[in-house]
Amino acid sequence: MEAGVINLERKKVIIIGAGIAGLSAASYLQRNGYDTEIFEAHSLPGGLCTSWKRGDYTFDYCIHWLMGTKKETGFDIVWDELGALVNEGGEEVPIYNPEVFNRVQLSDGDWLSFYSDTGRLEEELLRIAPEDRKRIQRLIRDLRSMARLITPVDTEKWGGKDWLFFLLKHMGPVLKLREYSRLTFEEFILQWRSQKLQEAFRALIPPCWSAVAFLMGQAAQDSQSAGYPLGGSLAFARNIERRYLALGGKINYNCRVEKVLVEDNRAVGIRLADGEEFYADDIVSAADGYTTIYKLLEGKYISEEIEEIYENYPLFPSIIHLGFGVARDLADFPAREILYLPEALELPDGSRHQYLSLNIYNFDPGLAPEGKTVVTVLLNTWNDSYWLTLAEKDPALYGKEKDELAAKVMGILDERIPGFRAAVEVIDVSTPHTVRRYTGNWRGSFEGFAPTPETLSRAVPKELPGLSNFYMVGQWTEPGGGLPPAGLQGRNLAREFCVRDGKEFRSR
Ligand SMILES: Cc1cc2nc3c(=O)[nH]c(=O)nc-3n(C[C@H](O)[C@H](O)[C@H](O)COP(=O)(O)OP(=O)(O)OC[C@H]3O[C@@H](n4cnc5c(N)ncnc54)[C@H](O)[C@@H]3O)c2cc1C
Repeated sequence: MEAGVINLERKKVIIIGAGIAGLSAASYLQRNGYDTEIFEAHSLPGGLCTSWKRGDYTFDYCIHWLMGTKKETGFDIVWDELGALVNEGGEEVPIYNPEVFNRVQLSDGDWLSFYSDTGRLEEELLRIAPEDRKRIQRLIRDLRSMARLITPVDTEKWGGKDWLFFLLKHMGPVLKLREYSRLTFEEFILQWRSQKLQEAFRALIPPCWSAVAFLMGQAAQDSQSAGYPLGGSLAFARNIERRYLALGGKINYNCRVEKVLVEDNRAVGIRLADGEEFYADDIVSAADGYTTIYKLLEGKYISEEIEEIYENYPLFPSIIHLGFGVARDLADFPAREILYLPEALELPDGSRHQYLSLNIYNFDPGLAPEGKTVVTVLLNTWNDSYWLTLAEKDPALYGKEKDELAAKVMGILDERIPGFRAAVEVIDVSTPHTVRRYTGNWRGSFEGFAPTPETLSRAVPKELPGLSNFYMVGQWTEPGGGLPPAGLQGRNLAREFCVRDGKEFRSR
C-alpha cells in the first residue's frame, strides 16, 4: 500500500516479523476481514522456528517438543486452524513421540531415563531412588493429573457457565499448575532425599526456573500431546505461511523495520531500513520486545513496570548449536541424551558445561540421506556479547573458535559413539551472534523471559502506555515463551480486534 493511503473498507494492519507469532496474528486477522501485510527482516518465515540445509543434511534448530500435536489437547486447535501440521501435499505431518523424553547420564556412570510413559518413569525413579518412594508416587500422580490439562483456546463463545464447567472439570490439574508454578526448581529438587535424583534434575533446567516448566513438559509426554513434527521447524513455519498466503495475505521479506511511525501518540506506520514508509490503521510488532520498545519506538512509550521487567526479569539463555552430518545410520542410539562430562567443557565465552545435551535425529529420515544421520548439540550461554563482539571485531578468530569448539565436542561424541569423528561429513556451528543476525532477539535469547515463579505470576503488557493502535505479540510478551503461546497470541489478538471493531470472530 502506498504511503499515506488507507483503505476505509477493510482496515489495514501491518505486522512486524514473520516468526510464528507474526504469522499467526496475520493469518487470523486476514481471515477476519483485515487487510494484513507482514514486513520481515530475514528472507524466510519462522524466526527462531527454523532449520537450514548444509550439503545433504538439514539441521533442525527449534522444535524438540511442541504442545498441541495431539487432537483435543488445546493448542492443537491453533495448529489446525493455522494449517501448521499439514504439508504442501495436503497430508497431515507425522508426529514423533519419544519413548524417553530425556536420558541423563549421572556422575557415577549410571543413566536415568525420564520415560514419557509415567508408569515406566515411576519404575525408573524407584530403581534410582527407593528412599523417595512416597515422593515419587506423589510426583507420578501429579504428572498424570497435569497430563489431563487442556489449555482453553476456542473460548470466544464461552459464557460464565462454560468457564465454571471448565474449572470444575480441570480443578485438579489447575491447582497442581498453581502449586508447582510457585515453586522454584531448586526448591523442588531439595525435596528429594536421593542425591542421584537431585543430580539428574539439575541437568534438566536452571534452578531459578519454576518447577512447572519441568512438570508441564514431562506431563505432556505422558499424554503424547507434545511431539516433534517430522520434517522439522522450517517446514512447520512454511505450512503456516502457505495457509496465510492462500487467505490473501502478503509478506515482504528482506524488509527490516527501523522505526514505528507515530502521529499524535497513535501508531500510523513503519519506516524500513531503506527509508521507505508504509501506513496502516493498526501496527502489530511480533519482533523482539526490546527492539520494539527501545529502538523502533525510541523508548518513548514505557512505564516503570516495563522498565522493571526489562531490567530485572531473567532471560532464557542464548545458544550455541553444533550440527553434525554423520555418514552413519545411528538407529541403535537413543534419540536424546544429556551426557555427563567428567571434565567440564569450557567455552571461550567463560561458560562451563558439566553436561552436554545431545540429539540424534534417527527418527526423522527427511533430514539426512538414507544410512546417514543428523546429530546436534546445544550449549546454553548467557554471554552473548562475547560472540557478538568477536564476530564483528575479529571474524577470523570467531571462525577459529567455532572450529575449535566443534573439534572438542566431536572428541566427546567420539567416546559416546565410537567412530563418530571419522564419519562426520558436515559441521555447522551457530552462536548467539547468529541468533541476533537472523532474528534480532535481545541478548540472543532463544525464548525470551525465563519462567520463574515471579515472572509467571504477572502478565507482561502487550500494549504500551500512551500509544494507541499499537500491539505486541510473541515470546517477549509471555514469560516461558515457546511456540504455543506465540500461535495462541495471534489468535487472541484477532479476537480482540474483532470485539473492538464489532465483528464476529472467525477462526477459519
Ligand atoms: C534452539 C531452540 C529450541 C527451541 N525449542 C522449542 C521447543 O522445543 N518447543 C517450543 O515450543 N519452543 C521452542 N523454542 C522457542 C521458540 O522457537 C520461540 O519461542 C518462538 O519461535 C518465538 O516466536 P516469535 O514469533 O515470538 O519470535 P521470533 O521467532 O523471534 O520471531 C520474530 C521475527 O521478527 C523478525 N524481526 C525482528 N526484528 C525485526 C525488524 N526490525 N523488522 C522486521 N522483522 C523483524 C525476526 O527476523 C523474526 O522472524 C526453541 C527455540 C530455540 C532457538
